[in-house]
Amino acid sequence: ADAHAMHVRLADEAICIGPPAATDSYLNIPNIISAAEISGADAIHPGYGFLSENARFADIVELHGLIFVGPKPEHIRTMGDKVEAKRTAGALGLPLVPGSDGAIHDVDEAKALAAEIGYPVIIKAASGGGGRGMKVVNDPDSLETQMQQAGTEAKAAFGDATVYMEKYLGNPRHIEFQVFGDGAGNAIHLGERDCSLQRRHQKVLEEAPSPILSPQERDRMGGIVAKAMADMGYRGAGTIEFLWEAGEFYFIEMNTRLQVEHPVTEMITGLDLVREQIRIAEGHGLTLRQEDVEFRGHAIECRINAEDPRSFAPSPGLVKQFHAPGGMHVRVDSGLYAGYRVPPYYDSMIAKLIVYGTSREGCLRRLRRALEEFVVEGPTTTIPLHQALLDDPEFQAGDYTIKWLEEWLARQDV
Ligand code: ADP
Repeated sequence: ADAHAMHVRLADEAICIGPPAATDSYLNIPNIISAAEISGADAIHPGYGFLSENARFADIVELHGLIFVGPKPEHIRTMGDKVEAKRTAGALGLPLVPGSDGAIHDVDEAKALAAEIGYPVIIKAASGGGGRGMKVVNDPDSLETQMQQAGTEAKAAFGDATVYMEKYLGNPRHIEFQVFGDGAGNAIHLGERDCSLQRRHQKVLEEAPSPILSPQERDRMGGIVAKAMADMGYRGAGTIEFLWEAGEFYFIEMNTRLQVEHPVTEMITGLDLVREQIRIAEGHGLTLRQEDVEFRGHAIECRINAEDPRSFAPSPGLVKQFHAPGGMHVRVDSGLYAGYRVPPYYDSMIAKLIVYGTSREGCLRRLRRALEEFVVEGPTTTIPLHQALLDDPEFQAGDYTIKWLEEWLARQDV
C-alpha cells in the first residue's frame, strides 16, 4: 500500500513487509525482523504508531541482536498496562487522579468506590489507548451498564476486558512533560506541551509552552518528573501525561515513545529529539544536563488530517496539487506530493504544520499566514478547521480546557 509513499521513495533500499492491512504488514513482527536481517540493519526505530509501544516487539528486536531505538522492554510493558503504570507512577512520587487502587472487578466494589470519590467517575480500559474504551458515569444507576460496556469495548479493541476507575475531572487541561533518560539513572525533562485541544479524546492542536504554566511551576513539576524517570532507570524518550486543574497535576499515563507532537518541543528547545533517541540507543547517554536546557519562544502544531473539517469523515484519494508553506520558523512534516494517492488503510493524518514565534501572539500570526499558504487539492483536509480556531478569541487568549473544542465545534454547526 505504501510503495509510492515518500519515505519509500527517499529510502536507499525498500523491502515490502506485507499487504495493506496493518495486521499483515506494519504489525507483522516476523516480516519486519526479516526485513531488518535482509538489509543488514543495526537498529529499528519504531516511529510513533503500530509497534512503537509493544514490549514483545522490543524484546524480539533485542533477541535478534538488533538495537531497539526506544525504552527497555520492561518499562514499555509496565507503562502499557495503565493500572500498573498508575501504581508505578504513584510509587515514584507522581500525583495521581483519585480512583481505584488497581483494576475493578465487581459492581458493588465499583459503587462503593464511586460513592467515596464522588460522581462523575470515568471507567477506563487498562490496555486502552487512542482515547478508546472510556466511559463517563454520572450516577450510581448507570454504573453497572457503563462498566459492562467499557469492559466489552475494551475486550473488542484491546483483547483485554480489564477496567479501572478514576474521578472524572470536570474541566481540566491536558499537560504533558517530555522526558529523556540514559537508562543508567540520569534523566532530564524538556518542559511541557499543552494538548488540551481534543476531539473524542484525540489531540488536534498542541502548543509549547502551556499558556497557563509559570516558569517556576515548569521547573518544579519538570524536576519531579525527571527525578521519577531517573529513579526508574528509564531509557530514551518518554512523555508523562497529566491532567491539570486548579493548579494541581494528576498523572494519567506515560507514553514510552516519541510522540506526534514532539516538534513543538524541538522548536522551543532547539534540540532534535530523534537524534537524542538514536544517541541514547547507541549508548552515548544524554547530550545535555538539565541546566543546559533552555526554553525560548512559543511553538504550535496543527495536525492536518484528510478528513472533512465538519463531519470528520475520512477523505483519502489522489492529491492533485500540493504546496507546503515555508519561510522562517515554519516547518511541515508531511509525505504528501502531487500525484500521491492517500491510502484509505491507515490514520488520516497527512501533515503536521509546526510554527515558531518569539511570543505566542507572533506564533499565532505566523501560523495564520502559513495555513493560508497551505494548498492540498484532492482530499478534503482539516486546514479550514485550524483557520477557524485561530479566529476564536478564547483560543487566542489560551483560555481552553479539554472540553472546549467539542463545545466550540457544536457551536459552529448552529
Ligand atoms: P488514551 O491512552 O486512550 O489516550 P488517556 O488516559 O491518556 O487515554 O486519556 C485521554 C484523554 O481522556 C485525556 O487527555 C482526557 O481528555 C480524557 N481523560 C482521561 N482521564 C480523565 C479523567 N480522569 N477525567 C477527565 N478526563 C479524562
